[in-house]
Amino acid sequence: MAKKKVKNKNPSKIWKKYKLQGDKLTRSRLCPKCGAGYFLGEHKDRFYCGHCHYVEIKPK
Ligand SMILES: [Zn+2]
Repeated sequence: MAKKKVKNKNPSKIWKKYKLQGDKLTRSRLCPKCGAGYFLGEHKDRFYCGHCHYVEIKPK
């Protein structure tokens, strides 16, 4: 029984989940001024924070 519980909490499985989320996070960037929780809106050639109006030009 105890062994089954450990299997369900397999750390590699959790890591896989985080890795997937990480891939998405590289597209939607966090605002460096506002910090965690504030995402930069993605535009054609730049990222924009609607909270502090921070603009970050997209790298090519
Ligand atoms: Zn901001």
